Amino acid sequence: MDTLKVKAIVLSSRDYKEKDKLVTLFTLENGIITATLKSVKSSTAKFKYAKEPFCFGEFILSLPSKVITSVEVENTFFEITKNIDKYYIACAILETVKTALVEGEPNPQLFVEVLKALGCIAYNDVNDNYVLVKFLISVFEGMGYKLALDRCSVCGQKFSGKRYLNLDFGEVVCVGCKTSNCMEISQRASSTFKILSITDYDKLSTLHLSKGSDEEALNILNINFNHRFGKKLNLL
Ligand SMILES: [Zn+2]
Repeated sequence: MDTLKVKAIVLSSRDYKEKDKLVTLFTLENGIITATLKSVKSSTAKFKYAKEPFCFGEFILSLPSKVITSVEVENTFFEITKNIDKYYIACAILETVKTALVEGEPNPQLFVEVLKALGCIAYNDVNDNYVLVKFLISVFEGMGYKLALDRCSVCGQKFSGKRYLNLDFGEVVCVGCKTSNCMEISQRASSTFKILSITDYDKLSTLHLSKGSDEEALNILNINFNHRFGKKLNLL
């Protein structure tokens, strides 16, 4: 029997047939894969953790059926589920991966980023919005929508006055290059983007930005997300 061994994070699962689950895995090696978990609904089921979102471990799948035959859990990130704020932010991270990645397309850099972000939410005393803002900036950048905050993406001039997010292209532009489908990025939101993008995940807990700046930044990114993917992230 052919098998596939992968490192994976569970993104979601749904009922399939009477006792099975279809599990959406974000794997390091093969990107997003949908696999089947057999007879998993009883409380004594062998791999019951493997259907829970955030679960990270080594999965073995039989081929070509993609039935999960073994799971070695490395981390369930269980702490996330104990706090509703953390849970929503962490779900938004998984949702972003599901939305931004095409099935079967590997993205090792994003895989590592998801693990760092989940670890930060689960174990650090951090403003969870900071984690999501940092994560989204990085996802947009990976897709070619870098939020350039020093120079206008169109004319290349250094910003001296207001900045705008061009919602058609996901780029930051100056007042001279602004079109009708642009939203202003305040000075406060702009510096929030800058600080969060250059601060490592494990240092985010040391940051205390001005009150409300995280929500403002997240709101802009969610509008950008909606324009890139046609839906908004579900946030509290
Ligand atoms: Zn310009």
